[in-house]
Amino acid sequence: MMNVIEFFRNLPKKQCTKCGHAIHEQADCYGNECDECSHPAR
Ligand SMILES: [Zn+2]
Repeated sequence: MMNVIEFFRNLPKKQCTKCGHAIHEQADCYGNECDECSHPAR
C-alpha cells in the first residue's frame, strides 16, 4: 500500500507559471498557464 503514496508523490504537479494556481488536467492544452491567465479575452 505504500506504493500508492509513492505513486501520487511522483506525479508531476502542474502549476500556472503566472499565478501559481493549480492547473487541471483538462487545461493541459494551455501549457503552463491556468484558465485565468491563458484566457484569450485578457
Ligand atoms: Zn494563472
